[in-house]
Amino acid sequence: MNRNKREREYYSIDVGDSTFTVLKRYQNLRPIGSGAQGIVCSAYDHNLERNVAIKKLSRPFQNQTHAKRAYRELVLMKFRHVHMLYLVMELMDANLCQVIQMELDHERLSYLLYQMLCGIKHLHAAGIIHRDLKPSNIVVKSDCTLKILDFGLARTAATGLLMTPYVVTRYYRAPEVILGMGYQANDIDQWNKVIEQLGTPSQEFLMKLNQSVRTYVENRPRYAGYSFEKLFPDVLFPADSEHNKLKASQARDLLSKMLVIDASKRISVDEALQHPYINVWYDPTEVEAPPPVITDKQLDEREHTVEEWKELIYKEVLDWEERTKNGVIRGQPASIGAAVSSSPQQHHQHHPSTSSSTSANDVSSMSTDPTLTDTDSSLETAGPAAAAATASGPMGCCR
Ligand code: AMP
Repeated sequence: MNRNKREREYYSIDVGDSTFTVLKRYQNLRPIGSGAQGIVCSAYDHNLERNVAIKKLSRPFQNQTHAKRAYRELVLMKFRHVHMLYLVMELMDANLCQVIQMELDHERLSYLLYQMLCGIKHLHAAGIIHRDLKPSNIVVKSDCTLKILDFGLARTAATGLLMTPYVVTRYYRAPEVILGMGYQANDIDQWNKVIEQLGTPSQEFLMKLNQSVRTYVENRPRYAGYSFEKLFPDVLFPADSEHNKLKASQARDLLSKMLVIDASKRISVDEALQHPYINVWYDPTEVEAPPPVITDKQLDEREHTVEEWKELIYKEVLDWEERTKNGVIRGQPASIGAAVSSSPQQHHQHHPSTSSSTSANDVSSMSTDPTLTDTDSSLETAGPAAAAATASGPMGCCR
């Protein structure tokens, strides 16, 4: 791009320690978060007349690993625009670390969980393993819609399911990931924490481990573990009515099926979607929607130089702009971001009022939208954009 054009269309602004150089259509930049890959700002997009989030990838071309991560995130998330590796997406209101500080009722808790399960189901159906799911990578809007973020470490399962155990953030590692790290690692301490709470696993489980890991596990002190009533007593749940009491026992039941050391005995995503705590939200148009189409199946096998990655990213952006111009995007089944997003308004049209889809859970008592605004004023709606995005169908905010 020639210098004059650049100066006409772009401007630079300091945000924290970083300088954002963005199109003039994006104004009012404010920092809202940061992750392993860079800083995220909110901004007002004058073209779309709505708030957006802009993520600046820090040093995307520092080396091949950074460049490959940037490409993965771009391809898997299908961002709206990329400028010098600024990723622009719908602005959400808070990440889950912030949301879990709030006193949410069961309606909101179960709806958030339902959306996470839908998102994970769609990722897996598209052959994608996220590899770093944790609260800071899950963002929520005040209308209770949810998105899964940060695909820089995601992998397509096409290249095999063997995972690099160190990818997953420590506290969120599944037991099988911890054990896969080799028993010398200091981080194996996380295993002790798991068995202290859940108890030493059965002999049957031990027999599935390879010899060296089994020896390690067998030589740990033995723990009886705690019952789920002890681990998650009623006081931890919202409990202000008979109805909620029922919900607390359902939530605990679901947790007891999720927090199972032996992965083969753990509840699957499909089963969890059928669990009474979750299935009140079940909408086949969301749960059974076609998986997002990932065109670049060889994404993980690719090895390129930094310059080649730049080329590929540039090409992806041009392709994207071309497809958007031709209106193809709107007809696409779903992008990853879109796949994890669904609209509570829709549920309230279809579920609470339809007694045929209700189970023992009293769905009809869910009379209000599960918005987050009425429980915490710090989660303001993003303005007209929020309504527009959630009104666009079960796949919401398609990008
Ligand atoms: P990331 O680098 O994608 O993990 O994002 C880092 C943090 O920035 C997240 O934990 C969120 O707090 C915030 N964030 C990222 N994307 C958005 C978004 N679209 N809307 C609101 N906040 C976001």
